[in-house]
Amino acid sequence: MTGMLSFALANAMMNRMTDDAVLKIAQELIAIDTTNPPGTQPQAVEYLSRFLAGHGMTCWTETVSGAPSLFAAMEGNEPAVCWIGHWDVVPPGPPESWTVTAPFTPLIRDGMLYGRGACDMKTGIAAAIGAAVELAAHTRRRPGTLVLAILADEENGGRRGGAPLLQNLHRRFRFDYGLVGEPTGFDLKIGRRGACWGRIHFKGIQAHGARPEEGDNPILKLAGAVTALSRTTFTRDIRTDFADPTLSVTTAHAGDKDNVIPNRATIGIDIRTTPSQSLQSLQTDLHRTLREAGLARNTDYQLELSWLADPYYTVHEPYIRLCSESIESVTGRTPRKCVQGGTSDGRFLASLGVPVLEIGLENTTLHKVNESCCVESLFKLKRIYSAVFNRLFQPS
Ligand SMILES: [Zn+2]
Repeated sequence: MTGMLSFALANAMMNRMTDDAVLKIAQELIAIDTTNPPGTQPQAVEYLSRFLAGHGMTCWTETVSGAPSLFAAMEGNEPAVCWIGHWDVVPPGPPESWTVTAPFTPLIRDGMLYGRGACDMKTGIAAAIGAAVELAAHTRRRPGTLVLAILADEENGGRRGGAPLLQNLHRRFRFDYGLVGEPTGFDLKIGRRGACWGRIHFKGIQAHGARPEEGDNPILKLAGAVTALSRTTFTRDIRTDFADPTLSVTTAHAGDKDNVIPNRATIGIDIRTTPSQSLQSLQTDLHRTLREAGLARNTDYQLELSWLADPYYTVHEPYIRLCSESIESVTGRTPRKCVQGGTSDGRFLASLGVPVLEIGLENTTLHKVNESCCVESLFKLKRIYSAVFNRLFQPS
């Protein structure tokens, strides 16, 4: 009896992912340069695949245009849950601007873990793996199906990762819930705005800089348009907890010689959309704004818009409550429900009708130099994911 008990105990201890083991995964992932572009490095996927297969999960890789994504499954009964993360990171920028440590040399200082991906989102991957391995060890709980989707190419729109692959994955597993590990500051993300990028080309007539009366300066049109666009008011979403749409003018190009009035000027715009907006409604709003600025469509300007990402919004109250309570059980704080920030791979699953929520650690340094997270936050996030998985797979 004693022997059996101690065997069970030893087994449980072996399978329990210690905080140190989770931290080690995060550090080893940060040490692998997975910058996107190119976003085709196989090392992180190989490392994680070895680790997860060694802990009893079924692993496979799918590669799109040279970018490998890793899937790790623990198959059981219902429900089927998909945790979503990405292994690629944005470029670190000039290495000398990293003053604490080199971007791919993880360092812990004063309780903070530094390195590219410390926040977005190699720590999220480590936390999810910690929770998944613990769950896989508890086979007597007869849990449902958990699939970790550790995707490529999130930082470049997901065309080589989530866009094609989550659709296939859902066809196979029929997910009941999706959970994304992007940093949320321990708040609960219940949706994301969509994204639409655009170009506006202003037409003019080239002339000598000393004879402006003979030309038609497109830079003046550009200036009027930028001012008007910065004040564009889009119709607000009817959902009171959905973030407002925004428009930013992000690029401006005109002329190449100080004494020549150019015949063309162009601006780039970045619009973040709500579920009540469409490509058509954006076109209508923008043409109205430019018309009010005194500009005539086709004569003065041409508008090109490209719809990059659909917004999503999850209204599944029981799942929202379950995740909210899981966060609170670890942090002691009721999370806010929010939709702020850029896009995530969650949209690819949400668009298939799966309720998707996002939980992650602090988001103050993502995409910045000296990217970092609190080591304690990593451990908290693992406990939150464990709480979510346990509640989903053991409904009381
Ligand atoms: Zn991310």
